[in-house]
Amino acid sequence: MEWCVSMPKIELHAHLNGSIRDSTLLELAAELSEKGAIVSSDVEHVIMKNDRSLSEVFKMFDLIHVLTTDHKTVTRITKEVIEDFAADNVVYLELRTTPKRNDSKGMSKRSYMEAVLEGIRSVNAVEVDLSDVETSARAPLVCNGTERKKIYVRLLLSIDRRETTNAAIETVELALEMKNLGVVGIDLSGNPGIGEWVTYLPALEFAKNQGLPITLHCGEVPNQKEILAMLDFHPQRIGHACCFQEEEWEVLKSLKIPVEICLTSNIRTETIASVDVHHFADLYKSNHPLVLCTDDAGVFSTSLSNEYSLALTAFGLGRREMFLLAQKAIEVIFAGDEVKGELKEIFATSFCKIGL
Ligand code: 5GP
Repeated sequence: MEWCVSMPKIELHAHLNGSIRDSTLLELAAELSEKGAIVSSDVEHVIMKNDRSLSEVFKMFDLIHVLTTDHKTVTRITKEVIEDFAADNVVYLELRTTPKRNDSKGMSKRSYMEAVLEGIRSVNAVEVDLSDVETSARAPLVCNGTERKKIYVRLLLSIDRRETTNAAIETVELALEMKNLGVVGIDLSGNPGIGEWVTYLPALEFAKNQGLPITLHCGEVPNQKEILAMLDFHPQRIGHACCFQEEEWEVLKSLKIPVEICLTSNIRTETIASVDVHHFADLYKSNHPLVLCTDDAGVFSTSLSNEYSLALTAFGLGRREMFLLAQKAIEVIFAGDEVKGELKEIFATSFCKIGL
């Protein structure tokens, strides 16, 4: 585990509101309880629960969203989540979140995202590179003669499956407006038991036509028609791919669509029975592009190092193979070539340093 922490890593599938520290959630619950809005003892055991089915996970998100509805809290959780990933030696993070409108808090999708940006800018534990465009953010790594730790943070705006076509298009428009502010793509997520692919398709096609990369939560539940329609759309990446059958694997592999693999999340939610039968092994053996990710580090009490450590033990991979797997993620990030080049340098330096 210590070795997995020391290795530089790339996180491409992390939901902001799923990555909040338990201690922060408990504190926010206590604050709301003091105001009489909730009964904190009712929610404490829900926050601390370890095993959750997929449907319980979405109930948990409804609770989390009650605790994180104002701009100040969104800023706080963003700052903490980035600090936690940086402390785990994540050098490039694509953080995804669903822009939320909440009239009672004077919050629009835009002001929600501004609160997220405020959180990113307020990180001071490490140097943050937020944009391919903002050259001022590309500060030198040397500060007073000492090297500062650095994390590249890019944002994906999520469309929730509960949203209407118009709301989804609004999210894509916002992503386009914020392209210079670190937004690099679009995600489709939310309860896979809800909603229809045709509802989001116009927004996703609009994003594609505008050149925004797309990642889709795909195959979390058995739904062959939707899985094939999603693959036919040719997204740049997909997440999970748990309930694929032979035909879907064939299409995925022939199209070489990279898969974001979230081991702990899949096992905790029982979308995969156990790690020994996880599709990671087959995809890895087939040399299919894949990247290990956390999904919801807070909700599933994990970290990216923990995911690598799990893969190392479960699939019998050596340290060198683990390192190369982490490095290969560079090829599928949504940021531009300049960032890819810088990440290659970071990995090359680390390869020598950790003696592989
Ligand atoms: P947020 O977008 O509010 O920052 O992060 C929480 C949201 O991410 C959830 O409400 C849900 O829409 C989405 N999400 C988090 N984890 C999962 C997951 O495992 N599967 C799917 N489909 N969506 C998820």
